[in-house]
Amino acid sequence: MKILYAASEVAPFVKTGGLGDVAGSLPAALAAAGHEVAVVCPLYSAIGKDWREQMTFVKNAYVQLGWRNQYCGIFSLERAGVTYYFLDNEYYFARAQVYGEYDDAERFAFFSKAVLEILPDLELRPDVINCNDWQTALIPVYYNLMFASRPFYTGIKTVFTIHNIAFQGRYGREILEYVMGIDDAHYRSGFMVMDGDVNLMKAAIVASNAVTTVSPTYAEEIQTPYYGHGLDSILRSNSYKLHGIINGIDLDAFDPAHDPYLPAHYTAQDLSGKAADKQALLELCGLEGDADTPVIGMVGRLTDQKGLDLVEAVLDDILRDDVRLVVLGKGDWRYEQMFVEAKRRYPDKVSASILFSADLANKIYAGADLFLMPSKTEPCGLAQMIALRYGTIPIVRETGGLRDTVTAFVDYLGTGNGFTFHSYNAHDMLHVIREACEVFRFNKEAWQKLMTGGMQSDFSWKTSAEKYVEVYQSI
Ligand code: ADP
Repeated sequence: MKILYAASEVAPFVKTGGLGDVAGSLPAALAAAGHEVAVVCPLYSAIGKDWREQMTFVKNAYVQLGWRNQYCGIFSLERAGVTYYFLDNEYYFARAQVYGEYDDAERFAFFSKAVLEILPDLELRPDVINCNDWQTALIPVYYNLMFASRPFYTGIKTVFTIHNIAFQGRYGREILEYVMGIDDAHYRSGFMVMDGDVNLMKAAIVASNAVTTVSPTYAEEIQTPYYGHGLDSILRSNSYKLHGIINGIDLDAFDPAHDPYLPAHYTAQDLSGKAADKQALLELCGLEGDADTPVIGMVGRLTDQKGLDLVEAVLDDILRDDVRLVVLGKGDWRYEQMFVEAKRRYPDKVSASILFSADLANKIYAGADLFLMPSKTEPCGLAQMIALRYGTIPIVRETGGLRDTVTAFVDYLGTGNGFTFHSYNAHDMLHVIREACEVFRFNKEAWQKLMTGGMQSDFSWKTSAEKYVEVYQSI
């Protein structure tokens, strides 16, 4: 099958979150399964010189966006069996930020239109285009409205993948015709509209042949008002084409046996290096503790979505016990301050690094005993899978991908790979944190099994890539 994967960020070229990770690894897994795969992404100024030097110039094209006729340079690069195309337009993509510019609607409408417009130039006629999140949501829309009847394009199928339903691309009516070049009739008919706004994600759900999201539980959740961010009714009426497919992780990038950031390496068969990494982490963080002191790690965006108000409510209770809390993250000022303040009040127990560092992140994944991720919503979540791969036992709330990847430890049955709680309730979370610390301290045999079991679980992309292919084939 010929697959074109369109994404607004692709690791390792440019990444701001989970979408970048997925776009960086799923296409390679599809190529490894024997498919012909191309990926297309904007050429942002954030994509550095080292990558640019490896790119080849393919050709120039022009893209009609409303009344504008815009330049589009096409560059390409081959990697792991995948052809990557980068679309260049300095006016749109030579910016300080990947997202958050005043004209994001126009920047990504340009990108979406360009992806379709350049296909004949590239002599690339995919069977399927897999679009991702609101930034590429206009691809199925433009396809249906402007391209489907042209001979070159007839029969191409579109798949829309939701990585986070909270970000939908919502704009005022005036932008539809003037910026996106889509007739106002599609506002009046209701096709492009949700609750009075132009809503790109809503239009893509309706326009594409299949919709996927990044875990089976999230696929169910987003059909309910609590998780649907206003789109639950649209997802319910399109549930016949909605599929939940869990993400994998990059097993080479996250490998405790070879991780260049770790002072000591280890495997499920020989965990001695993990004990050394724990001591190194404590030392790095200016904390003291022995093998029996539970170290709880947290790595992630410090936002409401990650359940940090639960942590706030019982932080003193958590820190009253003999534990260490090592936090790495950036985000809302409120939560950054909460951890900085906790460090001030409990200097012997807390380490708070308010920054983004892959180096420290991996040192925490390896050096911690427990990994706390009490998310309010979590489409898939990668951090809990990375923690398991490093033999660090997750404590999670049962939501989205956390529910699909972490199951509750039950000692007498010998089942489960972590600690979980269901209700969004701080004391339920506190209870399982304490339970996890008990098991860690007093049930060494069970803990050893949890660590080795976690490290041996299969979080590769292979199985998930097969499920994507099933969806592509079904349409
Ligand atoms: P989300 O996509 O909602 O941010 P995920 O758990 O799916 O959450 O993915 C987050 C990824 O970003 C993980 O690989 C995590 O290790 C990484 N990450 C998040 N915050 C930081 C940080 N401050 N420093 C280093 N890595 C981080």
